[in-house]
Amino acid sequence: MNAYNVIIIGAGAAGLMCAATAATSGKRVLVIDHAKKPAEKIRISGGGRCNFTNTRCSPANFLSTNPHFCKSALARYTPQHFIALVEKHGIAYHEKTLGQLFCDGSSQQIIDMLLTECAATSVDIMLETTISRIETGYQLHTSQGSFTADSLVVATGGLSIPKMGASSFGYDIAGQFNIPLTLTQPALVPFTMDEDWLSRYKPLAGVALPDVIVCCNKQTFREAMLITHRGLSGPVMLQISSYWQEGNAIHINMLPEADMRALLKSARSHNPKQDIHTILSQHLPKRLAQSILDEQAINGRIADLSNASFEALASHIHQWSLVPHGTEGYRTAEVTLGGVDTAALSSQTMECKSQKGLYFIGEVVDVTGHLGGHNFQWAWASAQAAGTHLASVTVQ
Ligand SMILES: Cc1cc2nc3c(=O)[nH]c(=O)nc-3n(C[C@H](O)[C@H](O)[C@H](O)COP(=O)(O)OP(=O)(O)OC[C@H]3O[C@@H](n4cnc5c(N)ncnc54)[C@H](O)[C@@H]3O)c2cc1C
Repeated sequence: MNAYNVIIIGAGAAGLMCAATAATSGKRVLVIDHAKKPAEKIRISGGGRCNFTNTRCSPANFLSTNPHFCKSALARYTPQHFIALVEKHGIAYHEKTLGQLFCDGSSQQIIDMLLTECAATSVDIMLETTISRIETGYQLHTSQGSFTADSLVVATGGLSIPKMGASSFGYDIAGQFNIPLTLTQPALVPFTMDEDWLSRYKPLAGVALPDVIVCCNKQTFREAMLITHRGLSGPVMLQISSYWQEGNAIHINMLPEADMRALLKSARSHNPKQDIHTILSQHLPKRLAQSILDEQAINGRIADLSNASFEALASHIHQWSLVPHGTEGYRTAEVTLGGVDTAALSSQTMECKSQKGLYFIGEVVDVTGHLGGHNFQWAWASAQAAGTHLASVTVQ
């Protein structure tokens, strides 16, 4: 029988959560995905341990054209709800930092948990299935036959990591039903730098700073930074990339806890014979310290250095301004910024205001979280908003 109450496109985080929820009232639910395996992004997330939520998650952790849109869903399905589900399935977890919760074991445990929930409510899941046409009503023509449903949920995610099955299909469906989109761009993505910068800093690839403040477009983040052979990465750079536009400068304070001007002056008074490299290396990785000194053409005993040299070093360390050449793009971005315009959706149910029975959930929607488990929390919360509504809809 090919008639369902609900068809969900996308067996990812949002799609599986929505399916299990919508089917609780006995609704017939089918999930279709073109990939060989479900939820591949959960599998690779959090370095294989899935940062599945963040206990400090709030609407302030999300970017959207309408920052209020996410509030309702996030308030009704909180990190505590997801933690309760994780605990019900006996999955051990830990807080890594800043409220970020990870599995002790592997992210496969979260996938298995969602699949178990789907099996318990008799959800059908069809993988390796290509959808060729969708007709209003809803009728889906696929490589495995045709299927009908009263409601269609689009949970196809964003454009990042195309080799894992990411596609623009969700945006195409929005287009088919005249649902507007906001501009999309890679987010939570490493920066690339130009050749000139790389000629100096590429040899430092692998050098990390544990505590850095970075600012761009009035946003500030404080976390770790990593120099790569293409540019700059690490949590702090991924976070700020979501606010960066081409041509913008980013401003870095490499040592927020220290006052370099005062430190250098004090060193000149107390240890005048010390080499400046030795002093900088007490606060920064040795190779980075040397590179900064080379760039400023400063060397030798601290006693012989001028206040102007101190100023140049302090300014480089506390107010390093750079204009990234670009980003690594969707190849490595964790998420897509922008997507289905929230103005077209109900924040209570995720249903399209102009198209009855059509829903968009998860990353395909113009709601993008900060790094640290917020994107999964949005996937769970938006899926619950749609799923609970679908479970309550009277079957016609
Ligand atoms: C490397 C990496 C690490 C990440 N780590 C974390 C983390 O630790 N914590 C966190 O909160 N977020 C993390 N994220 C982000 C998180 O994975 C996503 O925000 C989340 O998976 C979005 O859920 P979704 O269900 O909307 O989309 P997805 O999980 O991407 O699922 C979409 C599904 O739709 C399917 N699909 C796409 N196109 C079609 C089509 N044409 N036909 C049929 N099916 C289709 C896909 O195959 C996929 O199964 C990470 C992302 C990446 C890339």
